[in-house]
Amino acid sequence: MGDRMTPEQRHRCMSRIRGRDTKPELVVRRWLWHQGFRYRLYVKSLPGRPDIVMRKWRTVIFVNGCFWHGHDCNKRRPATHAEFWREKIERNRQRDAHNQALLQAAGWHVIVVWECQLAPKRRTETLRELDLVLSRIVLQHSDARPYTMPQEELPVAAEDATPYQ
Ligand SMILES: [Zn+2]
Repeated sequence: MGDRMTPEQRHRCMSRIRGRDTKPELVVRRWLWHQGFRYRLYVKSLPGRPDIVMRKWRTVIFVNGCFWHGHDCNKRRPATHAEFWREKIERNRQRDAHNQALLQAAGWHVIVVWECQLAPKRRTETLRELDLVLSRIVLQHSDARPYTMPQEELPVAAEDATPYQ
């Protein structure tokens, strides 16, 4: 998006891509970036097109809007067309659960962060929890052996690097 757009054009553009670059999602992305995590966005080849994908840690993060994804916290269901929305949101919930199951079956860590958890009052606590979860994942995937490997095993590691076949 260039800066040459008028506010009206920008608004139209933003509403067309609703669901991308939402504010709660940006909170998580900026925090991750600041923590040194690197990620891809909206990876289409994965179930549910996750918002944030960290291949290195085999982790995906969904930042879900509470209304569309039917979070339990949501008490502001529209009074009109209530049945229509209820069905639509229920389908979203089922699709989310299905996609998450597919990802987990493929060995991905799936993290869901809800919009309401990123409200200013809860944000610090949520990011602290996210930090803990990610630390555990990083430990699980890190190869800590180089630091604890006994001396006598070092030649084996060196052998791996030689070009002989
Ligand atoms: Zn919520």
